[in-house]
Amino acid sequence: MMRLPKFTYRTPRTIAEAVRIIADTGPEAQFVAGGTDLYPNMKRRQQTPKTVISVKRLPELNQVNGDGRSGITIGASVTLTDIVEHPIIKRDYPVIAAAARTISTPILRNMGTIGGNLLLDTRCNYYDQNYEWRKAINFCLKKDGDICWVAPGSSKCWAVQSSDLVPVMVAIGARFRLLSTLGERVVEAAGFYHDDGIDYLQKRPDELLVDIHLPPANGWRASYQKLRRRGAFDFPVLGVAAYIRDEAAHSGATITDAKIVLGGIAPAPIQVDAAAQALIGKSLDEDRIQAAAEAAYVKARPLDNTDFVYQWRKQMARQYTLRALRELM
Ligand SMILES: Cc1cc2nc3c(=O)[nH]c(=O)nc-3n(C[C@H](O)[C@H](O)[C@H](O)COP(=O)(O)OP(=O)(O)OC[C@H]3O[C@@H](n4cnc5c(N)ncnc54)[C@H](O)[C@@H]3O)c2cc1C
Ligand code: SF4
Repeated sequence: MMRLPKFTYRTPRTIAEAVRIIADTGPEAQFVAGGTDLYPNMKRRQQTPKTVISVKRLPELNQVNGDGRSGITIGASVTLTDIVEHPIIKRDYPVIAAAARTISTPILRNMGTIGGNLLLDTRCNYYDQNYEWRKAINFCLKKDGDICWVAPGSSKCWAVQSSDLVPVMVAIGARFRLLSTLGERVVEAAGFYHDDGIDYLQKRPDELLVDIHLPPANGWRASYQKLRRRGAFDFPVLGVAAYIRDEAAHSGATITDAKIVLGGIAPAPIQVDAAAQALIGKSLDEDRIQAAAEAAYVKARPLDNTDFVYQWRKQMARQYTLRALRELM
C-alpha cells in the first residue's frame, strides 16, 4: 500500500489567509482542492509538500456567477460534478459540462474541482509510477533524475498536458484570475500553458487560482472529443476542442473565427492555426471540415509516453477533428 508522507494541513477560511500562509511557508507548501491529483502524486513521492493548504472552504472559490449573456465566472473550487449538473452551465456552455462529464469517475468528480483540473500535473508513462519503479530506472528529468527516457538526447521534459477542460478553455477564450500577496492578475487560458513538462504553467507556486471567466455565449459553438482506452474512466491521450463563431450562429453562415485545439499529446495544448484558416471566411461544409482535419493531423506529433501507439494517436487527431466539427454542423 502506498502511504502519504507526513505533512502539515492548513484550512484557511479566507483568500487573504490562504495567500498569506503560502507566502509565509514558501516553496515547501502547496495548495490542494479535491486532492484527486495531488494526493496520488504525494503517495508516489512525485510531489512532497511539507505543508498542504486546502482551498476547498474558501467561499469565493465555490461560487458560480453570471450566465451566457454576460459571461460566467466559476470559482476554482467548484467541483466537476457541480459543473456537470449546473443548470446555467448546461444550458449556456454545454461544451464545458460535456467535457467535465468525461473526466475520471463520478466519485472523483465529486471531489475533483475545475481549478485542480486546469492546474493538473503533466503525465508520462515513466513518471506516473511509484517511487520504487522510478528509482529502478534512476528516475527522470521531471523528478530526481537527469535523463528523459522518452527522448534521451533532450534537455526538455515531454510529459503531457492531460486535462480535458484545458483544450476547451483555450478554444473558447477563457481567462483565469490569479491572486497572491503581491496582487492580482488575469491571464488568458491560451497563454497559460508552457510547452515544457516540468515548468508547465505560467503561474507562480504562491499564486492562488481564484476563478475562471468564460466569455458571453452568443454567436459561437464548441465541441470536445476525447480519445481514451476505457470509456468509463481514463485520462485523455488525445482531446480535440473545436470552436467556431459564425455570423448568424447557424450552419451555412460564414465563419468569422475558429479554433481547433489539441490536448493530451504535448506538454501544452496545441492551437492548429492552419485548421482555423481552413475554416474562417467559409461556411462549415464537409470540404472545409476535411481540410481542417488534415491540418490537425499534420500538426499533431504525439510521443510514445502515454497510452496507445503514438502513430495511431496522430491518425486519430484527424478523425477526432472530423467528429468535433461535424458535431457543430
Ligand atoms: C483515476 C483517475 C482518473 C482521472 N481521470 C481524469 C480524466 O479523465 N481527465 C482529467 O482531466 N483528469 C483526470 N483525473 C485527474 C483529476 O481527478 C482531475 O483533473 C481533477 O479535476 C483534479 O482536481 P482536484 O481538485 O482534485 O485537484 P488537486 O489534486 O487538489 O490539485 C491539483 C493541482 O492543482 C493545484 N491547485 C488546486 N486548486 C488550486 C487553486 N485554487 N489555486 C492554486 N493551485 C491549486 C494543486 O496544488 C495541485 O498542484 C483523474 C484522476 C484519477 C485519480
Ligand atoms: S517526458 Fe521524459 S523527463 Fe518528462 S516525465 Fe517522461 S521520461 Fe521524465
